[in-house]
Amino acid sequence: MLVRAELLDSVGGSQLDALDGLRRARVKMANLDSTARAALDEARAKERAAGQAKAAADAAYTAAVDAEAAQQQRTEELLARQSDLEDQLTEARGGLAELEGKRARFEDWQAAEQAAEEAAQPSQGEQPATRAPAADSESPQSGSTVLPTTGQITSTYGPRSGSIHYGLDIANDIGTPIVTPLDGVVISAGPASGFGLWVRVRHDNGTVTVYGHINEALVSVGERVDAGKQIATIGNRGESTGPHLHLEVHQDGSKIDPLVWLRSKGVSI
Ligand SMILES: [Zn+2]
Repeated sequence: MLVRAELLDSVGGSQLDALDGLRRARVKMANLDSTARAALDEARAKERAAGQAKAAADAAYTAAVDAEAAQQQRTEELLARQSDLEDQLTEARGGLAELEGKRARFEDWQAAEQAAEEAAQPSQGEQPATRAPAADSESPQSGSTVLPTTGQITSTYGPRSGSIHYGLDIANDIGTPIVTPLDGVVISAGPASGFGLWVRVRHDNGTVTVYGHINEALVSVGERVDAGKQIATIGNRGESTGPHLHLEVHQDGSKIDPLVWLRSKGVSI
């Protein structure tokens, strides 16, 4: 009995030991399992981070490639623009040379015209022509065209110091009468930019005559004026360097040479 009891006791003891061992082994396994899982999680996190870093690097690379391409395009555009501008410059230089040639020809023509004019008036003194004696063949009923004022021609129509002078300048004392060369209607009489004070007359054929730098306007807008009627006096107003009449003639929208126009009307000037 005792022996059996001891045996049982002994068996029970060793079973308990075995159970204990088993339990420890399970705990160890569980620990190992959790360590392995943690390591696996960590590895996966690292893999994810690496993946993200690679994606970011790829994006940065793509952006850099795009930026380089855009820069390249800009450079090409700038080069094209530069070449374009160089073409334009060459063209402009050609145009300038052409204009200078034209100007030189114009000046030659002007000098020749002046020489011919001087040759044609051998016995005349220095006094310029004062009044037109000839009748206007174009409009016999409205009387002759008359010279707008008397004095010294100081500048004619054409190129003058880098620009074009669109008028005929006749210098005389302030207060010298200015008359309308033809019948017409006054369309301006008052202040004008550059001219200080002006009068403009529209003649019956549509031609407009302009009188600039005048001292006084003696007519008003809408007034009907006959050839020879005094409309203003010579002055020195506006951008003027001395008392003179600046006469312009506008025909069909362009400013024509007043000297040529007056002469074509039979006025000797
Ligand atoms: Zn002028």
